[in-house]
Amino acid sequence: MAAAAGGGGGGGSGGSLAARSSPAAVQATNDDATASKLSCVNKGYMKDDYVHFFVRRTTKRAPIINRGYYARWSVLRKLLRQFLSAGNGSNDQKRKQILSLGAGFDTAFFQLQDEGIAPYLYVELDFKEVTSKKAAIINHYSEMKEKLGSEASISIEKGEVTSAHYKLFSADIRDIPNLDSVIQRAEMDTSLPTFIIAECVLIYLDPNSTDAIVSWASDKFSTAIFFLYEQIHPDDAFGEQMIINLESRGCPLLGINATPTLSHKEKLFLDHGWQVYLIRH
Ligand code: SAH
Repeated sequence: MAAAAGGGGGGGSGGSLAARSSPAAVQATNDDATASKLSCVNKGYMKDDYVHFFVRRTTKRAPIINRGYYARWSVLRKLLRQFLSAGNGSNDQKRKQILSLGAGFDTAFFQLQDEGIAPYLYVELDFKEVTSKKAAIINHYSEMKEKLGSEASISIEKGEVTSAHYKLFSADIRDIPNLDSVIQRAEMDTSLPTFIIAECVLIYLDPNSTDAIVSWASDKFSTAIFFLYEQIHPDDAFGEQMIINLESRGCPLLGINATPTLSHKEKLFLDHGWQVYLIRH
């Protein structure tokens, strides 16, 4: 796994592997991540008062999985806190944005809100199948819904939530013209400091799409951090088994051969005008 605030590589093609990638199986990786996060919460590795709303059956993960998720969660949390506290005290501090690509059932907005450090605008995108379920759960649990304020509007059918500071939209992030219109609908201001999250998402896309997204984000936002966290090293013993498992589930890592190492990820971002900061674990 790798975390990079601006990091990554490009080129290559998914070939016939792409044909074996099923959107439903890629979406199901979100259910896995959510169940693993709940396992961590139940073991005291992390605090999340909302994740249990998204899990039907509680499962216990092995310690190595809990530790891996803890590292994933804590590195993102640390960087989010740094971003949100920079420039503290000034008015600009409040005018910050977060854009989460392939957000799944992540509950960070609600947690940041509880901590009193939520940004001015938090926008989440995912496939409609996922955002519809998320919208339904937010709508169902008052603990979540009341965090959005009285003027919030929720459409389960469209998979949309719009409120003053939090917005959830359905979008296929490979469709760049649509990304433009969705961030416009979300009323993002591309001149504001923006933290873009892509946590275990881009690696499921064909490398050309990843390239296009990294390039789009670089062109679009004048001051931004791109947080990339995803699988690397397909060739070691762990990686080989991971590749077999994910391919057999119908969600191959289409991007892994284009960016198999941290330095490939670094190159992807450098090629599109980002500066790179690598974190290993
Ligand atoms: N970022 C979340 C979820 C990771 S699971 C977390 O770390 O917990 C991967 C998510 O990416 C899934 O919810 C899946 O539906 C979403 N995703 C994958 N490809 C996508 C695409 N082309 N457009 C939008 N969302 C996508």
